[in-house]
Amino acid sequence: MPAPNPPAAAVREVGLRDGLQSLARTVPTATKREWLRAAHAAGLREIEVGSFVPPKLMPQLADTAELVAFAKTLPGLNVTVLVPNLKGAERAFESGADALLLPLSASHAHSLANLRKAPDDVLREAEAIVARRDELGARCHVEVGISTAFGCTLQGRVEPAEVLRLVRAALDLGADEVGLADTVGYADPAAVASLFGRAFEVAGERLTWAHFHDTRGLGLANVYAAWQAGMRRFDASLAGIGGCPHAPGASGNVATEDVAYLFASMGVVTGLDVPALLALRRQLGQWLDGEPLHGHVWRAGLPKTLRAEAA
Ligand code: ZN
Repeated sequence: MPAPNPPAAAVREVGLRDGLQSLARTVPTATKREWLRAAHAAGLREIEVGSFVPPKLMPQLADTAELVAFAKTLPGLNVTVLVPNLKGAERAFESGADALLLPLSASHAHSLANLRKAPDDVLREAEAIVARRDELGARCHVEVGISTAFGCTLQGRVEPAEVLRLVRAALDLGADEVGLADTVGYADPAAVASLFGRAFEVAGERLTWAHFHDTRGLGLANVYAAWQAGMRRFDASLAGIGGCPHAPGASGNVATEDVAYLFASMGVVTGLDVPALLALRRQLGQWLDGEPLHGHVWRAGLPKTLRAEAA
């Protein structure tokens, strides 16, 4: 069982990866640097800056190595990248990223569409990544993210037993941490409470993060359910941008500024400056002019009753 709630939570910004990969446009590297600088200034201490996928597949993220190098100059920032395979992981080690995230779809159909590999083949890739990391002596945390953990637009139902099997297998082969992701916005708070509770029994403190999309409006409710289940680290993207190219209809991570507000309103410390996040969101609206932005808090602003020390 997880320990009783300490009043602190961490938010990892994933807009530069999960958000930008779903947009057709390419944001200039200089703009991304400005975005990173402002996100860091607003208190974010963990940012997924990009993905080491082949640039011809995702030209939007071709500058990932450059962004890792820049992000490493921001004090105290934990720099994360996504990798689809060993080749991507080798680029991550070379870049000096603090952590890499390998997505592992619990849905067989999504796994084939996204990585062209069955889940068990992705596990073998994870094993090779850990071995290569150790061989190189690279100081890079290896995280496995179980995606489509709550269902899949291609396959429909995903069995919780399969999710738990993959969690156990990923940890057995040496992954440092695992997380659960609702890639397509199928989760609900009851399912979140149940699956995170069961995953804690398997993974203990190595189950460290939750990733929710707000596709059907349950994103924040799911964050709260995971918090209640003992999770302390949450992925989010500014203005709720994001989606998955192989999950039709999937759109929008939970919005960073909304998650920050949720925790601030409950008196939970995140270290985030909500007004600064809202200012950055406005800036993002200019950088991504014409793209759909999401979230709630920006419409009405912060309430007067919000605890000053929390905001
Ligand atoms: Zn996502």
